[in-house]
Amino acid sequence: MRLMTEQNPLTSPDKLQLPAIQLPQLKALMTAWGKPTFRAKQIIDWCNKGILKPDEMKNIPGDVRDKLSNETLCEPLTLIRRECSQDGTRKYVFALKRGRFAGKMVESVFIPEEKRGTVCISSQVGCVLDCPFCHTGTQGFEANLSAGEIIAQVLAIKADLRNEPLTAQNSDGEALHSDITHIVYMGMGEPMANETSVHESILLLMDEEKLNISRRRITVSTSGLTPQIERLGDVHPVNLAISLHSAIDEKRNTLVPINRKHPLQDLRQCLNAYPVGKQRHITLEYVLLKGINDQSEDLDALIQFVNPERERVNLIQFNVFPGSPYNGSSKQHMREFAQQLISKGIRATVRRSRGDDIMAACGQLKANTKAD
Ligand code: SAH
Ligand code: SF4
Repeated sequence: MRLMTEQNPLTSPDKLQLPAIQLPQLKALMTAWGKPTFRAKQIIDWCNKGILKPDEMKNIPGDVRDKLSNETLCEPLTLIRRECSQDGTRKYVFALKRGRFAGKMVESVFIPEEKRGTVCISSQVGCVLDCPFCHTGTQGFEANLSAGEIIAQVLAIKADLRNEPLTAQNSDGEALHSDITHIVYMGMGEPMANETSVHESILLLMDEEKLNISRRRITVSTSGLTPQIERLGDVHPVNLAISLHSAIDEKRNTLVPINRKHPLQDLRQCLNAYPVGKQRHITLEYVLLKGINDQSEDLDALIQFVNPERERVNLIQFNVFPGSPYNGSSKQHMREFAQQLISKGIRATVRRSRGDDIMAACGQLKANTKAD
C-alpha cells in the first residue's frame, strides 16, 4: 500500500489532501484509525458529489469527521469568487491553502454547451513559460498545483452546479448541459511542466471509484514539451492539444519560446508517435494574430506541417488582455484562413470564444491579487 510519501501526514508537513486519496488508501487510513473500512467508500461518495467538508458528510460519525478534519486537508482550495457570463460560462477563482503557497490564486472555468459540460482546469499558479500573447504567461511562475488541488477545482464546480444549476440557454433557446462531462487542462499553467501532479490527477479523474471520466473526455493542452508528451502518451494517452501558433520556427521561437528548446522538427516526430485512437485527432491550436502569423507564408507552412490523417487545426480568436502587445485577426480573415486549410483537406474549426465578458476565455486567466 502506497500512501503518497510526499503528502503522508506522518512523514511530511504537507497534509494528505482528501480529494487526492483513492479508495484503497482511504481504507488503509480507516484501518490505521481503528475504524471500519466501509467508511472509506462513504467518504469517497461524498467527495464525488463535491462535498469535501466533513461536517456535511451526514452518515459519517463525529469522531471520524474530526480525524478527517485534523489529519487531512479536506478542502485544499477556498472559493474566493465566482463570475457568471451571459452565455452560461462560469469562472471560479480559488485560493490555495497549502503552507507557503497559501493565498495564491488559480482560476477554473465551466463551459456549458448543448451536449457537454467542460471544465477547464489550471495546473500551475502562473506559468513556467512566457508566451507573449498569453495573460497567464505575463504573470510569471508561482507554484505547481498538487493533484488534490487540481481535482478540487473539478469537485468545487460540481458542487456549485448542483447547488445552483444553470439557467442560461443557447441562442436557439435550447438548454445547456449543467453537469461535467469533459475536462481540459487549458487553464493557467503548463501541465507538462507539472508532470507528476498532472499524471496523478488524470488517474484520479479516471478512477472508477472517483470521478470515472473516460480518458477520451480528458484533454491536455501543452505548448510542446516533447519528452513529457511522449511519457504522457505512454502512461495516460488522453487527448492531446498543442499550442502551435506558428509552423515557422523563427516565428514560433518568439510566440511559443519553448520552441527554441523543442523545435518544430522534434514536435513533428513527437506528434507522429503519440497514440491517437480511431476517430480521434490531435488538436493543433492556432491563435490568429493580425500581421504576425496570419499571412500567406504562415498558411503555407501550416499546410506543410499538419498531418491531416491524425491532426486538426483549431483556430482561436485572440483574446485581448490589458497591455497585450498583439491584435487579433478579423473574423472574416479567420474564416478565410480556415477555408484555405479545409480546401487542402485539413480539418479546421474556428473556436467560439466563451466567457470573454468575464475574462474567462483562453489566455485571459490571471489571478494574483484578491482585487482583480
Ligand atoms: N500551457 C498550455 C495550456 C494553457 S493555455 C498551453 O499553452 O497549451 C490554453 C490555450 O490558450 C493554449 O492554446 C494557448 O495558446 C491559448 N491562449 C493563450 N493566450 C491566449 C490569448 N490571449 N488568446 C487566445 N488564446 C490564448
Ligand atoms: Fe504558459 Fe500556455 Fe500561456 Fe504559454 S500559452 S504562457 S505555455 S499557459
